[in-house]
Amino acid sequence: MDKAVRDKYTVVIGLEVHAQLLTKSKIYNSDSAEYGGAPNTHVSVITLAHPGTLPKLNKKVAEFAMKMGLACNCEISRYQIFDRKNYFYPDLPKGYQLTQDRTPICKGGFITIDTKSGEKNIPLNRIHIEEDAGKSIHLDDETDTMLDFNRSGVALIEIVTEPALRSSEDAGTLVSEVRKLVRYLEICDGNMEEGSLRCDANVSVMLNGAKEYGKKVEIKNMNSIRNVQRAIDHEVERQINLIELGEQVVSETRTYDVDSGDSYSMRTKEELNDYRYFPDPDLSAMIVSEQWLTDIKNTMPALPRELKHKFITEYKLPEYDAQVLTDSREVANYFEAICTHCHNFKAVSNWVMGPVKSHLNELKENEFQFPVSPSTLANLIEMVDQDKVSFAVAAQKIFPQLIANPNQDPLVLAQQLNLLQDSNEDSIMPIVEQVIKEFPLKVQEYRKGKKAIITMFMGEVMKRSKGKADPKLATELLLKKLS
Ligand code: ADP
Ligand code: MG
Repeated sequence: MDKAVRDKYTVVIGLEVHAQLLTKSKIYNSDSAEYGGAPNTHVSVITLAHPGTLPKLNKKVAEFAMKMGLACNCEISRYQIFDRKNYFYPDLPKGYQLTQDRTPICKGGFITIDTKSGEKNIPLNRIHIEEDAGKSIHLDDETDTMLDFNRSGVALIEIVTEPALRSSEDAGTLVSEVRKLVRYLEICDGNMEEGSLRCDANVSVMLNGAKEYGKKVEIKNMNSIRNVQRAIDHEVERQINLIELGEQVVSETRTYDVDSGDSYSMRTKEELNDYRYFPDPDLSAMIVSEQWLTDIKNTMPALPRELKHKFITEYKLPEYDAQVLTDSREVANYFEAICTHCHNFKAVSNWVMGPVKSHLNELKENEFQFPVSPSTLANLIEMVDQDKVSFAVAAQKIFPQLIANPNQDPLVLAQQLNLLQDSNEDSIMPIVEQVIKEFPLKVQEYRKGKKAIITMFMGEVMKRSKGKADPKLATELLLKKLS
């Protein structure tokens, strides 16, 4: 799209993010809420909506939702009722979804994101709790639709932002911030591919400076942050093209097809259901007492932004390090645990951001299983600090051995593998002299002023010492001999 045309418009985005809660049982009954399982094995008569069955609220669901509300600076509603959202669909056996319409558990609040122009608070409209629907499965070689009710009644929170986002990039950042928060709070695994975190984007465009927002289009069906951004970019172009042609944007729900990069209409606003919300008569109101709220506040962990600030001020880390280390709570905890044993915080940071994270990257996303204990890794880091081994040897030779045998003492390991650094002048000097003798021309060049050649000499010394020569001492000796 022509940039001049694009630049005439302001993009307006509001997100609705659904997060599946990590409770053991479902929101209104005791069926297992675990992901997967053989179809229709987590289904009691309540899930299947047999006549006469009654819902009962799972207390954990309310607690998890309140935690998210506290993390997002929301007001927690003290008096809540539950509403029926009526619609017919094969994977919704009750004929209505139990949700919160008029009394969402959390109101207002904001989520802070990092944008190109600094931090920005994105205001929230609400967070409410509701139940998930079952799954309709359409198999290629079947003419019938298969129904799996395992997911039916699993607890969700829905986080609804105000239309305050102005770019697809910021929208993506908001989703990843939500994912980080729910993982820190341990209320949702944040897995977008498995659908435990899902996002709908509402998009409109308006001419710069316009007083009123344009007609919004809701886009569904995006299973990664990248696709959220791609779908929004596509929608923005589609709307601008329509307006430029003098046509109208229609309020509708569209679905984005990742493979074709195109979207198509699912239903227009006119055909939208009237959900006939009304208070559910089977569930009594929920009252949040002062004591309950205080108890929940007391279980709140440090949040990523607080930790990031702490890492910058207390551990004196660069902002970049603090950001990377607080991306996940497990990594942040691991970093802090090492720091209780080793006070060279920047070295610890380098180790965690480098070798530790690259090992973790080979594992499944969101899985933290690092075998080496913080104190053992601290020992290895100190060995480098004390020039017993070089960083390269520690990272490339000792570290992989430690991962394979996490109970080994790194010092013993280094001794066994004959990797301890040689800081003995008597053994390094002969190597230095040998190298100088073998490269007389290079020595001449060096003496004529080509000082960079020192790295070539160092390379030779390190090679001949099998990486064990103490580089500081070796440099010293080389300089002495060359001058
Ligand atoms: P609806 O009544 O259609 O459900 P809501 O006002 O409840 O609309 O808003 C639903 C979502 O759409 C919210 O995330 C909100 O921020 C977003 N939204 C509302 N108006 C616009 C708009 N003009 N452009 C983009 N997003 C919008
Ligand atoms: Mg709405």
